[in-house]
Amino acid sequence: MRIPRFYITEPLMVGQAFSLPDSSFRHAIQVLRLNADEPLILFNGTGGEYQARITSVSKRAASALIESFSPLDTESPLHLTLAIAVIKPDKMDFALQKAVELGVNTIQPLITHRSVVRIGKEQVDKKLQHWEGIVVAACEQSGRTRMPNVQAPLTLERWLETPFVGTRIILAPGDFPRINALPADLPTPIALLIGPEGGFTDAEVETCVQAGVIPVSLGPRILRAETASSAALALLQHRFGDL
Ligand code: SAH
Repeated sequence: MRIPRFYITEPLMVGQAFSLPDSSFRHAIQVLRLNADEPLILFNGTGGEYQARITSVSKRAASALIESFSPLDTESPLHLTLAIAVIKPDKMDFALQKAVELGVNTIQPLITHRSVVRIGKEQVDKKLQHWEGIVVAACEQSGRTRMPNVQAPLTLERWLETPFVGTRIILAPGDFPRINALPADLPTPIALLIGPEGGFTDAEVETCVQAGVIPVSLGPRILRAETASSAALALLQHRFGDL
């Protein structure tokens, strides 16, 4: 069986005896039913991972001993930002999960003209927490050693005003070049813009192009936003990263 991995938000050290935080306890002990002596992997998102072993399990708590560290690096040399319009919650979760598996480093949720999902000010923190939960679970599962960060939602206009070093790409159906036509020496990092269910307006695409964002097409079929996001990230990792 694959050794289960757990994201821990604290500094970790070899030789440290460690009490599993609540969320890891629930997953490791109540769901996976790990027992004393069983191995687990801990990582705190800053690189590498720690081999640990459960030392004791009781009804409400479990401890582990951190036995060794491996400076494992599962990160792509390509630094990627996914700037995706907020879409319906289950689709957004799917898009974020796949983006993390595909090695994205930063997630920037966007509010665009045709966004149907509105996030009130009082819901932002709850939403961010939920998205961070998706990101953590995807990192645990996919063996990532660094934690992508999820930014608070911004309007497209505000995001365009934010300085970005590298290349920004907007995906829009139409007569635009494909990802494989991008020059091999494209400046990185890359930020990928994906529209909501109803797409970007022509004016938004135009504003982006004026701001130096490169328009790119994924071919003649219209993909759902979450499909477009996964397909484009895979193509970018294939062309410029490690896929
Ligand atoms: N009716 C909308 C479709 C939106 S699909 C429209 O015509 O624009 C949601 C998002 O996925 C789009 O905004 C775009 O970012 C991306 N997308 C879907 N299919 C695409 C394609 N064939 N090429 C480029 N981007 C695509």
